[in-house]
Amino acid sequence: MNNRIIIVGGGPLGVDLARGLEGKADVTLIEKNSHYVHIPAMIRAVIDPSILDRSLIPYDNALKHGKVVHGYGVKVDGEGLELADGSRINGDYIVVATGSSYATPFKAKGEEGIDGLRTANKKVHESVLAAKTIAIVGAGAVGTELAGEIASAIPDKKIVLISNQNSLFPDLPEKFGRSLLGKLKAMGVEVVLGQSAENLSSLDTPYAGTLTLSDGQRIEADLIFPAIGARANSELLATLPDVEIGRANRAKVDAWLRPSSKLSNVFAAGDVSENGDLMTIVALAKQVPWLKNVFLNVINGKSIESMKPYVPWKKNPPIAVPLGPKKGNTYIFMTLGNWATSMMKGKDLVLSNRNKKMGRDLSI
Ligand SMILES: Cc1cc2nc3c(=O)[nH]c(=O)nc-3n(C[C@H](O)[C@H](O)[C@H](O)COP(=O)(O)OP(=O)(O)OC[C@H]3O[C@@H](n4cnc5c(N)ncnc54)[C@H](O)[C@@H]3O)c2cc1C
Repeated sequence: MNNRIIIVGGGPLGVDLARGLEGKADVTLIEKNSHYVHIPAMIRAVIDPSILDRSLIPYDNALKHGKVVHGYGVKVDGEGLELADGSRINGDYIVVATGSSYATPFKAKGEEGIDGLRTANKKVHESVLAAKTIAIVGAGAVGTELAGEIASAIPDKKIVLISNQNSLFPDLPEKFGRSLLGKLKAMGVEVVLGQSAENLSSLDTPYAGTLTLSDGQRIEADLIFPAIGARANSELLATLPDVEIGRANRAKVDAWLRPSSKLSNVFAAGDVSENGDLMTIVALAKQVPWLKNVFLNVINGKSIESMKPYVPWKKNPPIAVPLGPKKGNTYIFMTLGNWATSMMKGKDLVLSNRNKKMGRDLSI
């Protein structure tokens, strides 16, 4: 039976897919870092580093039957994967789930790994405590949540949230953004809409400086957070034949999430793949079951093309934007407020659930 599945990248896509397939297929998960980074908690971890240890989870107990190999994938071909140390892992199917990079200190950066992430967290945390004025450029989910987390935990900071859009979350029904705007203002956050920061001098690290906005306004800040979106880690895919790199560096895929027309057994999913979904964990809730079903069928002899193509989330997938543990808004077919957001995300940041999934018992 051709059932060796290699998954490159142990983020939520890689881990959840490996967990779904292990025991039914021969699964090998390749991950460069020593710990899983539970990203939804990394925003609050900047303000409350005491949650960092619960947010960085060792892979030791993540899989029961599958194997986790720590290494950096450098080359994929139709037969497997080459690692940076020169070793090779052969497989029948390869799923590239190398995800995306984001500004410090929310994700582990390149070679700096988890130690580097801990160091960055400490440094930025100290800068937040020392800062009087904090500017956040970009009012997507990360920027908005960051503003809310800081305002909720340390109310005496002057926080300016800057967006080049004329409203918050313009793609969602108006009530969602309007209500969040009201809550942020009530928490003392100044929200500047419809203005671009023209001179962001770093896109990947917070820094002190003066921002010039498109209307000429200048904002001096002790700390400026760039929060302008993720960039996919598609380097591993870029060298495959026929691969097209699209927006935010994501690799385009066909209807069965395959990036190369020449390699029908190589897949790309999660943030790295331009598949019609946004770069969110919510999107993975659709992609993981679809991939699992495809693999369970193909290892039993079905052709991939006989399987139903992947269908991305339609308009307005669910989103939860906490503003600290008790406030925020969630959109699931309608706008839900503080209580629902706190229960679904704000209070625990899904830390208990993720630790449990990764086989770590937090009560010990
Ligand atoms: C601050 C922040 C907060 C967020 N909060 C939420 C939220 O609350 N809800 C939500 O739905 N979405 C959230 N997101 C988005 C979400 O984190 C991503 O959509 C999700 O992590 C994507 O999962 P992934 O597995 O595709 O990639 P990633 O999470 O990026 O994981 C990729 C993994 O691959 C590894 N890797 C990369 N290259 C290689 C290689 N060559 N060899 C081996 N390993 C490699 C990396 O180390 C990493 O572990 C947030 C994003 C950010 C930045």
